Amino acid sequence: MNYCNIKYCDIANGNGIRTTLFVSGCTHHCKGCFQPETWDFNYGEPFTDRTAEEIIESLRPDYVDGLTLLGGEPWEPSNQAALYPFLKKVREELPGKSIWAFSGYTWEELMDPDNSRCHTEFTESMMKLVDILVDGEFHLEEKNLMLRFRGSENQRIINVHESLSKNEIVLSDFMEKEK
Ligand code: SF4
Repeated sequence: MNYCNIKYCDIANGNGIRTTLFVSGCTHHCKGCFQPETWDFNYGEPFTDRTAEEIIESLRPDYVDGLTLLGGEPWEPSNQAALYPFLKKVREELPGKSIWAFSGYTWEELMDPDNSRCHTEFTESMMKLVDILVDGEFHLEEKNLMLRFRGSENQRIINVHESLSKNEIVLSDFMEKEK
């Protein structure tokens, strides 16, 4: 997996102060995408053990709330294979930090075992490590600059643990706070 950027002390992509990893590769090709250069899986730098360690170190201070995965598309199958062991390590070393992940895929698409475009052997295990999923492609016609943490009205901020335990989508309180 390649990545195109790491933002430290990011306050735009999740609650509080975060480290945000922008991975490379995205097959959605949404009209109006904010960074189409990240569609290319070969864009940016290789994500190495050293990159992972640097991110984990950046998460250690008390003032850092957690990690956000953005893209590109973190849930492209080849990116899941690289991100699952990384998230496991983050959880083991820093269990108190929150993990947010963005996806152009919807929750339903990701969790559908028959959807070979994005459901892999890693998807469910990776989802269990995530606290908040912001799902859905960016729809230019539903763009709304007033939304927090999402670009268009169709996207949802999902409480992953509640959704998994109830077996239905539970929206996060972060959606309510926009109103
Ligand atoms: S899912 Fe995100 S990165 Fe991919 S094309 Fe859509 S807006 Fe761009």
